[in-house]
Amino acid sequence: MDGINIKGVQKTSMIDYPGNIVSTVFLSRCNFRCPFCHNPELVFDEVKDDVDVGEFLSYLESKKGWLDGICITGGEPTLHLGLKGFMQKVKQLGMKIKLDTNGTAPEIMKELIEENLVDYIAMDIKASLENYETVVNVAVDKDKIMQSIELLKLGKVDYEFRTTAVPDLFDNEEAHSIGKMVKGAKKYSLQQFRNSDKVLDKSYQDKEPYLAPELQRFAKIIEDYVENVEIRGID
Ligand code: SF4
Repeated sequence: MDGINIKGVQKTSMIDYPGNIVSTVFLSRCNFRCPFCHNPELVFDEVKDDVDVGEFLSYLESKKGWLDGICITGGEPTLHLGLKGFMQKVKQLGMKIKLDTNGTAPEIMKELIEENLVDYIAMDIKASLENYETVVNVAVDKDKIMQSIELLKLGKVDYEFRTTAVPDLFDNEEAHSIGKMVKGAKKYSLQQFRNSDKVLDKSYQDKEPYLAPELQRFAKIIEDYVENVEIRGID
């Protein structure tokens, strides 16, 4: 299929789409450069072979009744011109779709919501607006980030906002500022940072993650702004 580069598929996931069994689809390229990113090979499009889209759709068809749907992640999926066409094909199979995005393309998100092509959107909030560019290491149209937030808050599709709590990039002040940005949202997830030698910026590979009580303290701050705050990635 033109305009979409699937670089990997995890055939079965019980954790990528809350409450659903899905296949997770990894798309290449990203317009951000988060230092803690765990998928730099996707961001820089270093994965050589594309997954055949037709074969993947046949696989999905064969799993109807077993799989609830797919999760589309990246990289940044909205950079792919063929995203909508691909989602239409998955919807024709009667499957649900969750989309992970960094929120830089509100106009695409709006179109997908209006055309009932997406069932759940998880949008990353990388930082407070003041610190966005420092965290993602590129110039950011912050109006678009806020437009995406406001769009999701309308509640026309299930959604969550989420932030990875990376030491040095996230603290009490950031928690307050991000809380204000997403104020009134239904759901927010604070994700534990995982260090590994895979991260995009190697100076983060040995960075110690926050301890659970620290994440709980941040979550408490955000609870002043959001109804349902979840912490992910701690035991
Ligand atoms: S963490 Fe997400 S938004 Fe950031 S560079 Fe990686 S894929 Fe892009």
